[in-house]
Amino acid sequence: MADDPATVYLVGSGPGDPELLTVKAKRLLSTADVVLHDKLPGPEILEEIPEDKREDVGKRADGEWTPQEYTNRRLVELAEAGQTVVRLKGGDPFVFGRGGEEMEHLAANDIPFEVVPGITSATAAPGVAGIPLTHRDHVSSVSFVTGHEDPTKDESAVDWEALADTGGTLVVLMGVGKLPLYTQALRDAGMAPETPVALVERATWSEMTVATGTLDSIVEVRDAAEIEPPAITVIGDVAATREDVVEFLLNRSDSDPHHGGRKP
Ligand code: SAH
Repeated sequence: MADDPATVYLVGSGPGDPELLTVKAKRLLSTADVVLHDKLPGPEILEEIPEDKREDVGKRADGEWTPQEYTNRRLVELAEAGQTVVRLKGGDPFVFGRGGEEMEHLAANDIPFEVVPGITSATAAPGVAGIPLTHRDHVSSVSFVTGHEDPTKDESAVDWEALADTGGTLVVLMGVGKLPLYTQALRDAGMAPETPVALVERATWSEMTVATGTLDSIVEVRDAAEIEPPAITVIGDVAATREDVVEFLLNRSDSDPHHGGRKP
């Protein structure tokens, strides 16, 4: 009879600062036989994992993404060979992280697994930029959406009109490239052009960048600040809170004239 399969741990890395790994994630990274990862956990966390334990299942040398089917298959293969696997995901595994698909695949193949939540960039990036997602004076709901879908597509899964109507804070992941399209969709849906918007790139990494503007100006701001993925877009009155606090905010940010990228 074959031996029982080893366990797969679906682990969130947090947004990138190694100090924001959970104690459990840190322990599992040091005890796992293999760590399957992409680039999103960030260089500081990845560099701490011994190279002979790491398998990159993100973008390949030819610029193509590793197909999800390969990652699914590899998880099962390693576990069946008795290797304890950490599947390390940026942020939280279940927030736009495909953790759900991988978990279902493991269950379907009789592989035991454990879910280790991480601090999602969806809340951490605004936080370290001095932007509270809710605030008793401004807003009492928040929506997390993907900006990756084309809002002009008829069958777009994101209903920007309905989101504009919530009046709550909007947090957009994967939303750098299509920023012009969904900011336009929100204006078309009646959101005020002067609504504050912030972009937080590489939150908690040593080269974090924050840029702020309004629904009307943010595309120009993005281009001037050369914001690139990974970045979070925060749309709503709370985005202006940063201005009131930034002078005293010590979260590192290279681009921030007040702090010059010093680590606290
Ligand atoms: N599971 C991840 C999200 C994966 S989707 C999480 O919970 O954070 C990929 C998107 O996450 C990126 O396009 C970007 O919008 C966001 N993201 C991840 N890490 C980030 C970081 N350190 N700073 C800003 N955005 C980040």
